[in-house]
Amino acid sequence: MNAVLDNAAAAAPTKSAEKIALENNKLHKRLCRLVGQAIGDFNMIEEGDKIMVCLSGGKDSYALLDILMTLRERAPINFELIAVNLDQKQPNFPDHILPAYLKQLGIPFHIENQDTYSIVKRLIPEGKTTCSLCSRLRRGILYRVADELGCNKIALGHHRDDILETFFLNMFFGGKLKGMPAKLVSDDGKHMVIRPLAYVKEEDSERYAAVKGFPIIPCDLCGSQENLQRKQIKGLMREWEKKFPGRVENIFSSLSTVVPSHLMDRDLFGFKDIKADGQANPLGDIAFDEEPCSTPATVPGVIPLQQG
Ligand code: SF4
Repeated sequence: MNAVLDNAAAAAPTKSAEKIALENNKLHKRLCRLVGQAIGDFNMIEEGDKIMVCLSGGKDSYALLDILMTLRERAPINFELIAVNLDQKQPNFPDHILPAYLKQLGIPFHIENQDTYSIVKRLIPEGKTTCSLCSRLRRGILYRVADELGCNKIALGHHRDDILETFFLNMFFGGKLKGMPAKLVSDDGKHMVIRPLAYVKEEDSERYAAVKGFPIIPCDLCGSQENLQRKQIKGLMREWEKKFPGRVENIFSSLSTVVPSHLMDRDLFGFKDIKADGQANPLGDIAFDEEPCSTPATVPGVIPLQQG
């Protein structure tokens, strides 16, 4: 009997290791597929591009570089990657970690040393959030570095959840229906900024970082408080995901399925000029429906409209 138990115990870790390896492999494949899909959907990368991959030392930027390197090996086109880290001289920033990691990867890289930390500390009163000035300074420096390195594109590690959080922040606190673009022309008009992780869930990026053992550099070295509103939104999305699986994914898909005629932006849709000219409306006659057209009416006594 004991021998049977011993054998089972000995077999268990092997099986579990196999399962873990399988899941990790699936995770890697999923990330490659989603990043490839985002690149294709938005035409993010083209023949001859020289892409500056911004590496902060956080989990997402490591994942971005890692997946882009994998995809470059398989891609039918040629493009270059150069990793760039901006050392902002925050106290206790471990400046040996990234160069050691990048040397071991064998990828071209550049470390830009700029003491934005002191500037921010000097200009922003104690206790106030420093992120907005800090990111403005960082952005300017990164554009200049991209120029100096001859890079035409700048890749950032924002993922699906960053995009959704920004979308809700803009809606709740800014009164705007606006997310974070997957691709845009930089403020100086000279570069294209791309976000190849746009379809990747933060949870997957987190797991991938753990699987790969990336040497993460903590992001609280500057002492700035995490944006409270963003933290609340993150909490809200996590709660939704637990209670209503699929809701967050649906909201994310809605960002790619916009119907301007059913919103209220008069600049986006010419409401004033529309006419009933006898042409069928391709969106269908749903003007009197209060529910989304895929949801049958459930109000007692109301007969659902026939679809189609
Ligand atoms: S957390 Fe610190 S380093 Fe990051 S943007 Fe804010 S001030 Fe800058």
